[in-house]
Amino acid sequence: MSTNKNEQPSTAKPEAKNALPQSINSEQLALIAQMFQNIPEGVFIINGQGTFEFANPMAAQLLGDNQEALIGQNILHYLHDTDRDKYMYTLLSWLDHKDSPISLGPNEVKIYRADSKTLEADLCISSLPKNIAVAENLFICVLHDLSSHKEQYNRLIKQATTDHLTGLANRLTLEESLKEHWQESVQTNQAISTILIDIDYFKLFNDRFGHVKGDKCLQKVASIIAESLPSRDCLAARYGGEEFAIILPRCQKDTAAAIAKHIQIKVNNMPFTDIGLPSDFRISVSQGIACEFNNQYRTSEALICAADTALYRAKTEGRNKISISA
Ligand code: GH3
Ligand code: MG
Ligand code: MG
Repeated sequence: MSTNKNEQPSTAKPEAKNALPQSINSEQLALIAQMFQNIPEGVFIINGQGTFEFANPMAAQLLGDNQEALIGQNILHYLHDTDRDKYMYTLLSWLDHKDSPISLGPNEVKIYRADSKTLEADLCISSLPKNIAVAENLFICVLHDLSSHKEQYNRLIKQATTDHLTGLANRLTLEESLKEHWQESVQTNQAISTILIDIDYFKLFNDRFGHVKGDKCLQKVASIIAESLPSRDCLAARYGGEEFAIILPRCQKDTAAAIAKHIQIKVNNMPFTDIGLPSDFRISVSQGIACEFNNQYRTSEALICAADTALYRAKTEGRNKISISA
């Protein structure tokens, strides 16, 4: 029997137990069911096998079916694989607990609705008091729609981790990700490279074409950088105003240099006619590369510093250059 906090037979206080009617009759039960019809949460009753015995309109709506069609169906069919196993195990293990009140949740679950859509929800299951569930174990379930919370949560996560203008990772995400990859590369004795990229003479661009077009230029460069990442665990971030950074886990200097070269060519050939600039107008970027291998740098910050020094060298060497830290 599991001892999970959520699914332990609860040690309900005697007062709470006594608050329930001791001898509920079928009329009272019908009244309770009537009450559930109007509750704005999905409420349904299942038996020990998970089969629906009752579902209110909101439960039917959330599960994408109608009330009548749900009766006889099994809640487990509506759950995502991992949740299904957990709830099946819980129901099976509860069969031994005929006498004590038990409950599980609320837990976040993914629902496969009858109309093939998915729904993220909180699901709570509690045993019905023995005097209601006379013949067999019955469980009352409450399903709470999390869609709008999830949407809001995902939006906030996105705002907190990405740069609003370019859609790349923001600096906080870059630093956190670099620390993680750094640890991994030190532990596994693998290389990790970073590239810092700075748009050349960007102040002049703004002065000549205005900040709105300057913003568009930042977006265009960011797209080139994002498209140049060799694999999904690499990260491109906006490091500062017109500076970008790339983290390349498991990449040696040569790979980083090839990526920088690709970015240089793409940026050099990028037209600006889409934002109304002359057809022959072009820009360039300067790039600094540093690679950690064999404990060359003590910290991830030192790696960034080395890339920054290399970037500075690329600037002083005349811009539109790639400089690699020794
Ligand atoms: P260098 O070749 O030495 O890098 O010269 P630079 O002009 O690019 O460098 P500088 O640091 O002098 O100027 C950076 C400019 O970037 C100044 C600032 O107005 C501009 N900038 C920073 N953030 C933004 C932004 O979000 N939008 C726009 N349009 N401009 C930005
Ligand atoms: Mg700069
Ligand atoms: Mg610049």
